[in-house]
Amino acid sequence: MRKTELQRFRKLLEAEKERVVKSMTQHEKIIRGQDGESGGPTRGHSNHLADQGTDEYQYEATIHTANTEGRYLYHIEEALARIEDGSYGKCERCQGKIAMDRLKALPHARLCIECKEKEEEGAV
Ligand SMILES: [Zn+2]
Repeated sequence: MRKTELQRFRKLLEAEKERVVKSMTQHEKIIRGQDGESGGPTRGHSNHLADQGTDEYQYEATIHTANTEGRYLYHIEEALARIEDGSYGKCERCQGKIAMDRLKALPHARLCIECKEKEEEGAV
């Protein structure tokens, strides 16, 4: 891959990383706030069971999102490391080239489309 292309992917990944980190910080605040301070406009009069149910659901959803983001962040960091060591754009399984279109759609991809499909089928 050409250097200019690598730079472009690095920028893309770094911007994405920043976005995910910000979002994660936000979610962590929500998760921590939940078992921390009492108060807040919704907490004061929680006689409404329905409201509480919604809160709980949102809490679960937030944790789920935070977990997904954590994994995603890991993949982004891995991709950045691969740019550093020069293995970016190479499939981890077959060592073939990952198609440019695939990388553009999914800059943190670590498998080519053929290997990814095989992995999803479970035929490893
Ligand atoms: Zn492959």
